[in-house]
Amino acid sequence: MSRAKVISIFNQKGGVGKTTTCMNLTAALSIDGYRVLTVDIDPQGNTTSGFGIEKNDLDKSIYDALINGQDLREVILTTGFDRLNLLPSNIDLAGSEIELAHMSQRETRLRKVLDPILEYYDYIFIDCPPSLGLLTINALTASDSVLIPIQCEYYALEGVGQLISTISLVKKGLNPKIEIEGVLMTMYDSRTNLAVQVVGEVKSYFKEKVYRTKIPRNIRLAEAPSFGETIFENAPNSKGAIAYAELAKEFIGREHVK
Ligand code: ADP
Ligand code: MG
Repeated sequence: MSRAKVISIFNQKGGVGKTTTCMNLTAALSIDGYRVLTVDIDPQGNTTSGFGIEKNDLDKSIYDALINGQDLREVILTTGFDRLNLLPSNIDLAGSEIELAHMSQRETRLRKVLDPILEYYDYIFIDCPPSLGLLTINALTASDSVLIPIQCEYYALEGVGQLISTISLVKKGLNPKIEIEGVLMTMYDSRTNLAVQVVGEVKSYFKEKVYRTKIPRNIRLAEAPSFGETIFENAPNSKGAIAYAELAKEFIGREHVK
């Protein structure tokens, strides 16, 4: 029986493209025939609304699973894509950092929640919040690997030290198997020297972990969520769609090398 590989999309910086990557990479993988679950563990619920779900009208959310042990079958939703499901989130989750702090096994609750459904998917991607709190620790503890989006901007590597030490901390204690899946350059503009220079810096730090595929700055990627759509529904011929489809291929290619 195969079990899903679980991947956290993590960078404690906000606005680097975690949610955009989570939505569009999971959609691309489902189009390619893989069974995928997107887990939204950010109280902002941007992945949830990005898939066209009215997050404030949710009957049940990840909060109920994480805090109240709700059966996931009553929480997971279908999406507009075959083979792609969503574990949704909303603002209910905002107080959970504090609730979790008082609970037993507070760092491993997500791992326990996901365990019974691993057999139904090939990949589970977790869209992390922009913080290093208990929700992020739960995501990292439940994951086999971490995909790190980095925005092509000044100070791109700022905060990376902290990011790496958080992963190391989890690896030393709660989850020895965790590794870096890959590093994705986002909002790339090949016309600027800055972008080229930033990619160089990131490559000298993360070496071959950096994906060949870079996600261009593309207005269609920014607009699609306001229609409750991924790029493949909203602008399937855009540069953004082509890039995320390529990333899915590169991601799978690396899987086969291992
Ligand atoms: P995070 O989840 O890390 O906070 P988001 O994916 O929400 O980041 O991206 C931050 C903002 O930038 C959003 O408004 C998003 O639509 C926009 N954005 C993300 N990636 C791109 C891109 N490649 N090109 C243009 N805009 C982008
Ligand atoms: Mg986000």
